[in-house]
Formats: sequence, structure tokens, C-alpha cells
Amino acid sequence: MRVRKIAIVGSGIVGLIAAHALRRHRYDVTLYSDRTPDQWLHESRPTGTAARFEMALSYERELGLNHWDAVAPRGEGVFLTFCPKLHNQLIRLIGRSARPFQAVDLRLQCHRWMNDFDGRIVIENVSVARLDEIARDHDLTIVAAGRADLCKLFPRDDARSTYTEPQRKLAMIITTGGAMSFDRCPFTPVKFEFLGTDGEAFFVPYFHKDHAPAWNILFEPKPGSRMDRFTNAKSGDEALSIAKQVVHELFPWDEEWMRPMRLADPNGWLTGSVTPAVRKPVATLSSGRIAMSLGDTAISYDPIAAQGANSGVKQARHVVEQIVARGGEPFDAQWMTSTFDAYFDEHARFAADFTNLFLEPIPPPAKELLIAQFGSDGRANNDSGPQRIADAFFANFNDPRALTGALHDMPRMRQFIARTTDRPWIASAIRGRAAVIRNQLFSR
Ligand SMILES: Cc1cc2nc3c(=O)[nH]c(=O)nc-3n(C[C@H](O)[C@H](O)[C@H](O)COP(=O)(O)OP(=O)(O)OC[C@H]3O[C@@H](n4cnc5c(N)ncnc54)[C@H](O)[C@@H]3O)c2cc1C
Repeated sequence: MRVRKIAIVGSGIVGLIAAHALRRHRYDVTLYSDRTPDQWLHESRPTGTAARFEMALSYERELGLNHWDAVAPRGEGVFLTFCPKLHNQLIRLIGRSARPFQAVDLRLQCHRWMNDFDGRIVIENVSVARLDEIARDHDLTIVAAGRADLCKLFPRDDARSTYTEPQRKLAMIITTGGAMSFDRCPFTPVKFEFLGTDGEAFFVPYFHKDHAPAWNILFEPKPGSRMDRFTNAKSGDEALSIAKQVVHELFPWDEEWMRPMRLADPNGWLTGSVTPAVRKPVATLSSGRIAMSLGDTAISYDPIAAQGANSGVKQARHVVEQIVARGGEPFDAQWMTSTFDAYFDEHARFAADFTNLFLEPIPPPAKELLIAQFGSDGRANNDSGPQRIADAFFANFNDPRALTGALHDMPRMRQFIARTTDRPWIASAIRGRAAVIRNQLFSR
């Protein structure tokens, strides 16, 4: 059989993973990138934090792309503080992860993965007209260009998209100089500050391209809230100084720990927002030729539940498997659509629902989970029911199929609590509420 020619536009994490995977199957792959490996490393902003969990990381390992396992900080769980109102630390959840998560500077990663690539690389900012020529010259053209202009070629899928505008503002700042641990957590977690009135802050253990272990801090302000003040920041230093002021006012318990943190590098920050959207998988170009979407070009998630890169890697695995299964048959629009539909139905819809859960007021079943896990402390020898619930909650970031349904459905949540704690759900509900009230009284 003739070797099939596949073009991938975009050298972000998802395009590169698909490109490497297809080379493993000996396809003739050309990667189109608007930047060289050195431009990635020295001149680019990272497109996101891109913390990945085991299901995504295992694919990167299979492809031999896991170059940072020995050096990157091992994220071993979550340390979540839920404040319904300012300074009211109502509930803490400390969930452990069975396998570590990892966040490596995308600039370093894409630089290295481009250099590792043994297919053809063309450095070019691909226009719509060029995309048509590329589609002419290849059996399959995949657009993994993130949320850049080319994604507009793929119409929004109204039935699958929930929002028409961003639900949060975003500010990401990479810092060095902070201690990689803190009190009350027996491992290095993602520190998750949840303030119902204003938004969320995440401190993600991170491997920075120059400084190695670092904290990547992500703020998710609700528009118009007290946290919403990053929009006009002109530099990373300015964004960090706003961040410290926000922490001083909204999360003062983190102020001391955050004080030594300084900007890791002049490009190590971002501000903006994401309009969450699912797009149709097929773009029809002016000649009638077609291209297929992948990664953020296919689905843009708000980063609040860390699903974008994770979903993109899983989608890349799925698409590559379907390409191989297709044998010598044409990669037509019907194949593109059924390939995407299967991925969306089997996985992405759960990732999108899980993300939306954080963007909306917390539904009662999720509150029930937070109450039932009260008392989780993340210690290695803690095998209590509450700890198992906290661990299961964090595991849902890796595989959102597991718990997302129950987080919206009270009978299922109660069954989950009973199954996980080996006691009737009502016992956890009473114990948890009593503990929350006790904690509120004693913390005054
Ligand atoms: C602040 C923030 C934090 C995040 N945190 C997480 C997280 O913790 N976990 C998680 O899973 N996800 C997270 N995400 C989402 C994650 O970063 C993205 O889902 C992921 O980077 C998407 O990868 P991609 O390869 O699809 O697109 P991108 O990373 O956007 O890469 C696309 C690439 O295509 C190239 N390109 C674009 N247009 C062209 C063109 N015309 N010609 C040639 N090349 C082109 C660009 O160079 C770009 O690098 C976060 C996002 C943000 C904004």
C-alpha cells in the first residue's frame, strides 16, 4: 500500500503528539509550524499551564516523549480550600493522586519534541489559501493550531457548546523562588483556592524551562469581581504584583508563602480569556477540499478544570487509532465526523461537563461530596471513607467519565458515597455536616 501523506498544522502539544504517533505508524508526516524550536524556547509565551494527568501522560510515555519524569515536580494531589464568602474557609479537601500529574513548560516541551521529530517540518504561518494547497497535496490535513485564526474555519457546534462568551478572565504567571511545599499538606499538590464570590486561584507545581521546579499560578476571576484586575497588566512583573495584592486581600493565608515568588522569565505570563466552544470537526475550504480539527481547534475548554491539554492528548490518541484503522480508505468528511463524534461521546462531553461544573454555582450533589469528604488530610496511611472520597474527586480530573455524572445527580452521588465509605450515605451526611459546623464554630 502507498504510504499515506498526512499534514499537521500547529506545533503545540497536541499537534506534536499526533505527529510523533503517526510517524511511529510510518505515515509520511509534514508538520507546519509558525515558529522554529528555538523560537518556541526563547521567544514564545507558553499557551497554557497544561498540567496533565495519567491518561494523557501514559500516551506521552508510550511515544517516548516523557523526557522530564525524573526532574519535573511530582504533583501528587490537590489541596482545595472552599470559601463560599471572603475569608470563610468552610471546607478543605486534600485528595491524593494514584499517579503523579505533571506540568512541564510548553516552550521547553515543544522545542524538544520538534527537535525529536523525524518527519518533515515546514516553518510557515499557514494561511487559509495555503491550507487549501496543503490539503491538495496530502491524504489528510489536520489543523491543530489552537485557538488561533484557523480555528474559525470550523463552525461552532451550537448543540454541544454551552456558552457564547468567556465565563472567567484568566491570568497565568510562572514564578520561581517559592518553597515547593507548605504546611498541612504531606505532598506537593495543586493548591486550589476557591472563592465563590470572586473566582479561583491555582498554584500548580511546574517545571520551568530555565529554573526547573517552579509554581505556575493561574487566576480565574469572575468578570467584574474583586479578583478581576489583571486585564491591563503590561508585564509579567506587574501581573505578579497584582497577584500578590489579590492574595493579600482574598487569600491572606497564602501571603507569607507567596512572598518570595518572583517572575520566572519575561515571557512567562499570560492574560486573556477563553470562550468555551465545541467546533464541527470538518472545515470545507474554497476548493471544496477538507481539513480536520484537533486539540483546542476542535474543543476549547476554560482551563478551570485542567481539561484542554488532557483532552487534546486523548483525542490525538483516538484520531491516530482511527487513521490506522482506516487502512487505505479515504479520509472523507463522514470519517472525520464519525471519528470526532465517537471521541466526543466517549470522553470529551464528560470533560466539558466537568469543566462547566466549576464555572457554575456548585450543584447540591457536589456539595454533598464536599461535606462527605470533610476531614480528608491526604496522609499516606489515611484509608478512611472521607479520604477515599477526596481521592476519587481528584481522580476525576484524570478521567472525568468516572464521577462527573454523579456530581450532577443526587441519587448517584449518594450511591457513590455509600459505596466508597462502606456505610449508608446518611451517616456521611450527618458526620460531615456536624464536622463543618464544629469547624466553623472553633475557627472564629
Ligand atoms: C492559562 C491556561 C492554563 C491552562 N492550564 C491547563 C492545564 O493545567 N491542563 C490542561 O490540560 N490544559 C490547560 N490549558 C489548556 C491547554 O493549554 C491547551 O488545551 C493546549 O495547550 C492546547 O494545545 P494545542 O496543541 O491544541 O494548541 P496550542 O497549544 O495553542 O498550539 C497550537 C500551535 O499552533 C501554531 N499555529 C497556530 N496557527 C498557526 C498557523 N496558521 N500556521 C502554523 N502554525 C500555527 C502555534 O504556534 C501554536 O503553538 C490551559 C490553558 C490556558 C490558557
